[in-house]
Amino acid sequence: MSPTSASPIAQRQRVAVLGGGPGGYEAALVAAQLGADVTVVERQGLGGSTVLTDVVPSKTLIATAETMATVGGASELGVRFPGGPTGDTEPAGAVSVDLARVHQRVKSLALSQSADVRARLEKEGVRILSGDGRLDGPHALVVADGPDAGERVEADIVLVSTGSSPRTLPDAQPDGERILTWKQVYDIEELPEHLVVVGSGVTGAEFASAYDALGAHVTLVSSRDRVLPGEDADAAEVLEEVFRRRGMDVVSRSRAEKVERHGDTVTVTLSDGRTLEGSHCLVAVGAIPNTAGIGLEEAGVWTSESGHVDVDKVSRTSARGVYAAGDCTGVFPLASVAAMQGRIAMWHALGDTVSPLRLRTVSSTVFTSPEIATVGWTQKQIDSGEAQGEIVKLPLSTNARAKMLGIHDGFVKLFCRSGSGTVIGGVVVAPRASELIFPLTLAVEKRLNVDDVAHAFTVYPSLTGSLAEAARQLHVTGQ
Ligand SMILES: Cc1cc2nc3c(=O)[nH]c(=O)nc-3n(C[C@H](O)[C@H](O)[C@H](O)COP(=O)(O)OP(=O)(O)OC[C@H]3O[C@@H](n4cnc5c(N)ncnc54)[C@H](O)[C@@H]3O)c2cc1C
Repeated sequence: MSPTSASPIAQRQRVAVLGGGPGGYEAALVAAQLGADVTVVERQGLGGSTVLTDVVPSKTLIATAETMATVGGASELGVRFPGGPTGDTEPAGAVSVDLARVHQRVKSLALSQSADVRARLEKEGVRILSGDGRLDGPHALVVADGPDAGERVEADIVLVSTGSSPRTLPDAQPDGERILTWKQVYDIEELPEHLVVVGSGVTGAEFASAYDALGAHVTLVSSRDRVLPGEDADAAEVLEEVFRRRGMDVVSRSRAEKVERHGDTVTVTLSDGRTLEGSHCLVAVGAIPNTAGIGLEEAGVWTSESGHVDVDKVSRTSARGVYAAGDCTGVFPLASVAAMQGRIAMWHALGDTVSPLRLRTVSSTVFTSPEIATVGWTQKQIDSGEAQGEIVKLPLSTNARAKMLGIHDGFVKLFCRSGSGTVIGGVVVAPRASELIFPLTLAVEKRLNVDDVAHAFTVYPSLTGSLAEAARQLHVTGQ
């Protein structure tokens, strides 16, 4: 997948990138490495929403939430909390979070990461223009507004990587104080007393989990039967059970119609007429692509009904020389996928070695407590017969390391192809599942057999021991 050489094979080719998130900046780095003359137009800041408002801020907030969750479970491991209201045994009341400080840290970390991305691009000779840009036909970008307004960039290759923005409901307009999108939560100074989260997809579940751990009372409104409808059903079940056990109210099969603010209170009206009251409401009901009014149609770039740019597996759009990457394509809304789409676009456009995007090997994580990490085929696909596979699921409750760490919830699940034993996917539900999934990603990517995984040494005691154990249980005698 990576370039075969760093020689300037694209000398004198002009590349213009609209949007400086991972889709855009990773593409710019590849194009610069290949010798192209590269310009990035960005209106918000380098690193994009990924770095400034979405991934980096949310995961920084979650790092504090995780610490609070660890402290919350510490008394079971024999840690005492002098000053706690329950006789030195419980942390409740002895530790609390200073949200203003947390948010200060979140913002400064995001800004410093954005500065790092800018510095890297500048070092590689990428020209950066600040402002709102749009296509002027398939071979030019213009900066319409902002510090560099009026600049025009002619290009042989254009990459559109404008990302997406939070979807809002007509009767739930964010005010930035009590009714919030995920981009606005870092402006509040006090921990919400009672946060109502509307939407139980990945973003809703992550924030619900984080605020619960930080000490807020949380109500999670889910329009479906269970939280995380797009994820592994067993994993979602574990998470919902953990949420309820921790005192979160999960309101299932309920669609929020309206969110209103009356002073310090928000009222969420559900479609069946019931109402929920809270101090704040986070609306997390998906995202819409930033593709309107940027000259796509005029440039011959086709979009879908949802507004996403149509792309093929090497990020080409319908217009010759115009590529697109990231959330604006709707292919798989992950920073890692955006970055890979952007790199693939440039390898293809500039004539380097390239393989088409393979979504089957993408690993992803829901950063709740516990985390849910997945890769490859899903159990749903195996159960429906779409994929031929065997499944082994092992609870972590019998893993020695999990016991030592006080981990009670979670499991590992491994899927292999029936007959051949080739690893085709897996799920890990555990603290730091985002790290534990990597051996399975490697196995899926390299088409390893369950015996390959089973025969590799794992540390004793370790959570990864359960991955090897699952692989051993999938061994087919006589293979
Ligand atoms: C709360 C949250 C948490 C997430 N956590 C994760 C995670 O943990 N891991 C993960 O992999 N993914 C995560 N995602 C998804 C991830 O954020 C996106 O997939 C990723 O941001 C897509 O990158 P991108 O380059 O397409 O867009 P972006 O990062 O959104 O960058 C697009 C950039 O284009 C700029 N732009 C748009 N229009 C114009 C214009 N006309 N002119 C100039 N500039 C323009 C925007 O200002 C923006 O900076 C999360 C998403 C959310 C909402």
